[in-house]
Amino acid sequence: MPLTVTLSRSPAADLGFLLHKHPDRVQTFGLSFGQAHVFYPVAEAERCTAALLVDVDPVALVRGRRGAAGDGLLDQYVNDRPYAASSLLSVAIADVFRSALAGRSHERPELVEESLPLEATLAAIPCRGGEAVLRRLFAPMGYAVTAQGYPLDERFPVWGASPYWTLTLTGRQRLQDLLRHLYVLIPVLDDDKHYWVGDDEVEKLLRHGEGWLAAHPERQFIADRYLKHRRRLVDTAVARLTEGEGGVDDGPGALPESLLPAAEPVLSLHQQRLTAVLAVLQGSGARRVLDLGCGEGRLLQLLLADPPFTEIVGLDVSARALETAAERLRLDRRPEGQRERLQLLQGSLTYRDRRLAGYDAAAVVEVIEHLDPTRLTSFERVVFEHARPGLVVITTPNIEYNALFPGLPAGRLRHRDHRFEWTRAQFQAWAEDIGNQYGYTATCRPVGPEDPDPGAPSQMAVFRRSTA
Ligand code: SAH
Repeated sequence: MPLTVTLSRSPAADLGFLLHKHPDRVQTFGLSFGQAHVFYPVAEAERCTAALLVDVDPVALVRGRRGAAGDGLLDQYVNDRPYAASSLLSVAIADVFRSALAGRSHERPELVEESLPLEATLAAIPCRGGEAVLRRLFAPMGYAVTAQGYPLDERFPVWGASPYWTLTLTGRQRLQDLLRHLYVLIPVLDDDKHYWVGDDEVEKLLRHGEGWLAAHPERQFIADRYLKHRRRLVDTAVARLTEGEGGVDDGPGALPESLLPAAEPVLSLHQQRLTAVLAVLQGSGARRVLDLGCGEGRLLQLLLADPPFTEIVGLDVSARALETAAERLRLDRRPEGQRERLQLLQGSLTYRDRRLAGYDAAAVVEVIEHLDPTRLTSFERVVFEHARPGLVVITTPNIEYNALFPGLPAGRLRHRDHRFEWTRAQFQAWAEDIGNQYGYTATCRPVGPEDPDPGAPSQMAVFRRSTA
């Protein structure tokens, strides 16, 4: 996974002083997960290129790793890490180019402050969100961005595009800034880190983000991915970045999985959905409520703040989402009276679950579109036949509205994990069908600002039980 950095101005050998690595030598550095080599494929008067090659030992990587949560055993050994840029490359940059990253040069201190004509190339970088995300992240710092994509397999074009890109960034930058941008943004592109993310990662983000991140239009998105979507850490980082600006920015990226590209004004619309669902629950007089597919607990937070809801259960299939929910709700710091009102359960909505029986109401907000269509019948039975609350509120996107999202290519769904999105007529027909089968009356309504033609961005069905 080579990273190359090129300086093209005379004397180009200045690059060696800045990086503290001599252009005539190949140097090797030990890392906890392998080795890093630094060498100069080009060292001419006008042009000098330094290469950082990280040689990952997959076995060393696994050794001493804290619980391989979520990954299969095979994934520990067979993965793209030896070949693609990832958070391992950021670790290597911090280790091998420590002084340059900190902006220190004993021999040529004046060089550190100089904006230089630099070019950086990452030979293979995975990027969730593709070229649009690459540009959104690097262009604001003044880089010309060239991204070359590849087919997954040239022999089988129908397999589509590979997730890897060759990324070239060109611009006038201080070398320290270029390294800082790469250090922070490589794991953001990959949307993964090979290690556990804790409080010290917030400090690293702020330290290496100094001077550029606060002003970056995608700072929320960057913090969200860099901190592995850990809500408490992200909130802390963004609050510190925006100190003095009056309030925390809630831009795109605030949802568990941010949209690709930022197609929907995520929070405001999501906030409208939650408020609409809350109003129905409040109006129904329900006391004991379920939030099915509760995600990071945004609705739970509103329910907890409302004392008439005496028993609140959040269920999700994702342990990570539940962990984040517990963090954002600060359960450990709430008075016992409040804590007792809430339960978080891990479970799947496609399997019968006796823990869900006997509640007044259930909310299912932006969840059904994540279910495989073949599992939808199981979901219906779990909710309407077995759990059987008096009231069920379900929301889902209205696909007709997608044409109005400027960043969303035609034919694409709003989220990479959506298995389907329905028109208003499809949702209405489904809701009526469920009502008839299980003894509920169903009414559908729009959520969000309505356009005369495609309607509102989101839709809600309210089911009231008509038979016992
Ligand atoms: N209701 C939340 C989260 C919506 S995202 C909100 O509005 O903010 C969809 C959620 O559904 C994710 O948290 C996902 O983990 C969950 N989910 C997907 N399939 C599920 C299943 N089979 N059982 C339970 N939860 C599921």
